[in-house]
Amino acid sequence: MKLFDTLSSTLKEFKPIEKNKVKMYVCGMTVQDVPHAGHLRTFTSFDILRRYLEYKGYEVIYVQNFTDIDDKIINKSKELNIDWRKLAYKYESEYIKYAKIMNFKDVEFYPKATLHIQEIIEIIQSLLNKNFAYISNGNVWFDVEKFERYGKLSKKSLDELISGYRIEPDLSKRKPYDFALWKAYKEGEPYWYSPFSKGRPGWHIECSAMSITHLGKTIDIHGGAEDLIFPHHENEIAQSEAFTGQVFSNFWIHTGFLTIGGEKMSKSTGLFFSAKDLLEHYDPNVIRLFFLKAHYRSPLEFSNELLEDAKNGWYRIKNFLLEFKDEGKIYNDLLNQFELAMDENLNTPKALAIIFEYINLAYKNFDIANDIAFTIRMILNILGFNLDFEVKNNKLEELINFIVEIRQDLRKQRNFEISDKIRNRLKEIGIILEDTKEGTKWKII
Ligand SMILES: [Zn+2]
Ligand SMILES: [Zn+2]
Repeated sequence: MKLFDTLSSTLKEFKPIEKNKVKMYVCGMTVQDVPHAGHLRTFTSFDILRRYLEYKGYEVIYVQNFTDIDDKIINKSKELNIDWRKLAYKYESEYIKYAKIMNFKDVEFYPKATLHIQEIIEIIQSLLNKNFAYISNGNVWFDVEKFERYGKLSKKSLDELISGYRIEPDLSKRKPYDFALWKAYKEGEPYWYSPFSKGRPGWHIECSAMSITHLGKTIDIHGGAEDLIFPHHENEIAQSEAFTGQVFSNFWIHTGFLTIGGEKMSKSTGLFFSAKDLLEHYDPNVIRLFFLKAHYRSPLEFSNELLEDAKNGWYRIKNFLLEFKDEGKIYNDLLNQFELAMDENLNTPKALAIIFEYINLAYKNFDIANDIAFTIRMILNILGFNLDFEVKNNKLEELINFIVEIRQDLRKQRNFEISDKIRNRLKEIGIILEDTKEGTKWKII
């Protein structure tokens, strides 16, 4: 299986450090607000990656953090005049709620930055000891020039970076590209005690500490949306590798944006659809199908047309599965083609095209229809679709059969008044009973 690695800019054969085990860290939400559709897309991509790795036989340890201390959280809590911890907790719960609705498989850990202050302090102390960092006015800065490989992920040179900083640099740091590991206390902000000063951690160091604590010094996959490449992931690499002396992650996987009019969906620009809005209009399976129709690295334009397309696509799949639900076996051609597509950097648009191709084939060839349906069910499970509708449908079927049975008993007792009432009421609901020589048949119209 090949995955695109941002660091080497190549499609690389995936091989985990430990046989059969994958350690994967994905940068999660800064819990200052409810998720929007763009967040759902990002985490759907990583949900599919983890599910497909599991299908390939790996045990996946997936860690996704909550950044629960940050400028944005502090500012918003001041604005709303509520405790920053309450604010963070509220939006953590909101995220988990949507993760469940979207059928994201539970991750193994949701670490929170504020529960790793001790680990963060230890890393910063070590970076100070090794001279990769310096203290100035109670702030601790990472000394970017000391880390030779800085810029290797984002392909930026220090010269380029210098010219990029137009705003007056913070006077307590030596170079504009140095970044904060620890921020000294400011009036009205939360703080922790540390050997350097009373203060709080910078954003980047939080992820390094949580990844190293929960998954070890070197992990298999580190991921996030593509806007995290710089500076967040570049800085994570610098501080982690300076601290451990080892490669931080073997694969760097980044997902494309959900866009509106070509612009990244974002709360700050006002260009966004909330997860709530989206889920009020569309079934989670339809949303998943919509996301999968684009490759995870490509931008995806948020449009009603494409969502309606996905809706029609989902109905086609659903109706097919409801029609062909007899015992089946794996249809190898289909499964092989699906795997080939997914092995090539999770080519979900191709995988979906293959599914629809085989649905067409099944309608032309009923002999293999149940095998194809059986295999598509398996594939949809791998892709994280929720197939509960099939269970619900079986229950409905059982319920109607049960009502029909009672009506037969009533007819045997010559209680035509009530048996006719049952038939008429069912007809009003849209369920037609037909009494034939072989018994009562029914259909939903
Ligand atoms: Zn992060
Ligand atoms: Zn922890």
